[in-house]
Amino acid sequence: MEVNLKCAYCKFKYCYKGVKDQKVLPDFCPMKNEAETIESTVKLYNKEKVGKLYIQSTINEREGYEVVRGKLIPVRPRVLELIEFNRKMGYKKIGLAFCIGLSDEASRVSKVLEERGFKVYSVCCKCGSIDKTVLGVPEKYKLRHDGFEAGCNPILQATLLNKARTDLNVIVGLCIGHDILFTEHSEAPVTTLIVKDRFTGHNPVIALYTSYHKHMLK
Ligand code: SF4
Repeated sequence: MEVNLKCAYCKFKYCYKGVKDQKVLPDFCPMKNEAETIESTVKLYNKEKVGKLYIQSTINEREGYEVVRGKLIPVRPRVLELIEFNRKMGYKKIGLAFCIGLSDEASRVSKVLEERGFKVYSVCCKCGSIDKTVLGVPEKYKLRHDGFEAGCNPILQATLLNKARTDLNVIVGLCIGHDILFTEHSEAPVTTLIVKDRFTGHNPVIALYTSYHKHMLK
């Protein structure tokens, strides 16, 4: 049977409010159709490694807010959340897999982490300096057509960080798809600090919000 998952279109988000009344849940609600699956996943949080990661990230989430006049106000940017999370998890060796287009951002992230006592290993996407055609990309898909063009090499980035035995690897602006390959080949867990969006200054949600950008999605 096909699994029907459409939470994005659920207006009321009953799950958030603790409402499990089958009569009000939408037909596509997993709480209506996937009770056994839900039950089976709850058990996974009891496993030591998963439990630690989950509980520490949830504590980190809570610490990202302060209560001001009865309201939860966010107080930490993601980069500070990353630092606090690393501390909670006991991660000491941090890998940065960065895009050459975000070299400046990568050096800033590296510095911020090092200043807080982490050992940082960073690898640029162009490391290896291998021409795109050698990696199987047809010549006509190079950005410029005047000879050598270094290909991004996410598998090398992951392999080098694996050699460094990092505790956590952080993606800093890898291209879509390259991020998938990096994550697949990384032995350490992977989180994303900066998601690349050349057009919006690495803020992809803007394309969903403003009328200046939304027309492009039509
Ligand atoms: S789990 Fe059910 S109630 Fe929650 S968002 Fe999805 S469809 Fe809506």
